[in-house]
Amino acid sequence: MKIAIDGPAGSGKSTVGGALAQRLGYLFFDTGVMYRVVTLAALERSVPLANEAAVTELARQIKIEVTQPTHDDGRQYSVWLDGRDVTWDIRSKPVDAGVSIPSAYAEVRHEMVKQQRQIAEQGNIVMVGRDIGTVVLPNADLKIYLTASAEERARRRYTELTAREVEANYEDILAGIRQRDDMDSSRKTSPLKPAADAVILDCTSKGIDETLEAIVCLVNGSLPNPLPSEREGEQSLPPA
Ligand code: C5P
Repeated sequence: MKIAIDGPAGSGKSTVGGALAQRLGYLFFDTGVMYRVVTLAALERSVPLANEAAVTELARQIKIEVTQPTHDDGRQYSVWLDGRDVTWDIRSKPVDAGVSIPSAYAEVRHEMVKQQRQIAEQGNIVMVGRDIGTVVLPNADLKIYLTASAEERARRRYTELTAREVEANYEDILAGIRQRDDMDSSRKTSPLKPAADAVILDCTSKGIDETLEAIVCLVNGSLPNPLPSEREGEQSLPPA
């Protein structure tokens, strides 16, 4: 089964998607890390983000890997750029501010989507991003579009950063989120939008657990067999 979760920055896709994958015993893949690695590589190698041809060439050359977490420091997974651990580097402010530029390039996307489809072929997967339901896995068994108000998303990002003791300013985060929303939704290639057959979940006033349960209910509705946790003797899930 392939589950696609799309949505804007900070909507909780990665947290909910990771928890869902763990619950189901599925592979989890956060496609945003790939665009972040391309952006980091360009920034580090002084390739101007505005130079589409050079950024595209770079995206073809670099090796991006995502593995099980190699450190117990709050990471969901480890991310590697040409064999170097860049898990936290890709979350830096310059990457946040620049990532929507390379991700608007058609050839960069073509390269990333090719790799994402190969990953999805490995089996049952929860894949999160912006264009999973619309472009990467148009035949996904379940498509979720997770959203929340920009203010709530900024508040969550602020809490997450301060928990990691990273200096953060709420107003700056909110402005950054709005700018990224605009760029991601208005680009020509694979803009951020719900697939026609996606279930739209607004989690502005829902916590992670409540959102997860809502998605598990949807999964149950589309699965031929009960989930392991629904079998006799085990804790039951709320009705769909
Ligand atoms: O999900 P995350 O915030 O880490 O994504 C970073 C950026 O990568 C997004 O703002 C977007 O520009 C790009 N992205 C994309 N398509 C995806 C995933 C992410 O364009 N499938």
